[in-house]
Amino acid sequence: MKVLFLDQSGKPGGAELCLLDIVKPFANTSLVGLFADGDFRKLLEINHIPVEVLTTQAIKVSKESGLFSAFASLGQIVPLIYQVVKIARKYDLIYANTQKALVVGSLASFISGVPLVYHLHDILSLEHFSKTNLRVAITLINKFASLVIANSQASKTAFIQAGGKADITHVVYNGFAPENYQVDEIEVIKIREALEINDQFVVGHFSRLSPWKGQHILIDALGRCPENVTVILVGDALFGEDEYVKQLHQQVKSLGLENRVKFLGFRDDIPELMSVCNLVAHTSIAPEPFGRVIVEAMLCAKPVVAAKAGGAVELVEDGINGFLVTPNNCQELAQVINNCIDGKVNISEIANHARMNASHRFNVDFINYKIQDLLKSVVFKN
Ligand code: UDP
Repeated sequence: MKVLFLDQSGKPGGAELCLLDIVKPFANTSLVGLFADGDFRKLLEINHIPVEVLTTQAIKVSKESGLFSAFASLGQIVPLIYQVVKIARKYDLIYANTQKALVVGSLASFISGVPLVYHLHDILSLEHFSKTNLRVAITLINKFASLVIANSQASKTAFIQAGGKADITHVVYNGFAPENYQVDEIEVIKIREALEINDQFVVGHFSRLSPWKGQHILIDALGRCPENVTVILVGDALFGEDEYVKQLHQQVKSLGLENRVKFLGFRDDIPELMSVCNLVAHTSIAPEPFGRVIVEAMLCAKPVVAAKAGGAVELVEDGINGFLVTPNNCQELAQVINNCIDGKVNISEIANHARMNASHRFNVDFINYKIQDLLKSVVFKN
């Protein structure tokens, strides 16, 4: 099967890292077309996946954009659509992995007659998108997509509630290779020494720095924890949220936590850094569509505490394979951290159970098999 994958981002966010695993089995026959250059292109190349940057002109529509900017961006995307049409004619399927890829892919599919698959990595609700963006996305999907792969039941439900077609939508979780999350104990000791956190109870947060990812909630919670608790924040502002980064630094300063919060920036050694943590916190204040870091923490056999909303609720059973807390509530989060320190809960039992369960449930081979099956059903129907 020959698939033209489309993704708008040059940066490796969650949707792109998920795509990387999906594309691998198609490496000999397929192409990834990107609408921006950057580290994601390099990552694909390192993995021997054919990739082409189709434009380097940023498409100026954001999740909050209205009708005017949508129309204004048309001039930019028309040449891109024609480029995609030309390429798509050599492929069996167009696989749009992001919203701008959906816009371009829909019209290219209409013109070329090549069927369109959309991988939905978002909760299509007004909490995350403008009314215009929602309407455009739902209309394009309903009209042009033969198949929607939703990354969680939460994403599927929001899509249907917003008017999306239920009968073409299938939930497939992100896949992970469990062996990538086994880290040598010597490596853990080295990193702990380098970060000067040897005697600390370390709570890790792994996400781009963005207000809705809620790093500020964890910092507030830290202010309610004993002195031997340190937070590591792994991730950077990927989409221009520099003001939020400044606010986080100010918050740390005003709470006097400068020695207990470490900003590590964007890193590509996530399993190693997770392995030095005693607990991983996931603190999104709006429903998370899936939450890759939750599964990654489980695979590293680390207890995870997550905000009880969206896809996180499908991944974590409170007290069984992790902990759930009310979103936006630093007291509850601090309580879980303190319970873990005090030994009130058996964190190693919970973490080991989580690892075993996640290794099966999110196994990349099984997930890829499911996706390939769905794609075949589209190709053979057309
Ligand atoms: N991540 C990373 N480096 C960082 C921070 C995060 O590689 O410095 C990865 C993280 O391990 C996860 C992904 O980025 O695989 C984020 O996915 P998630 O579903 O948690 O959030 P999204 O970015 O899709 O909103």
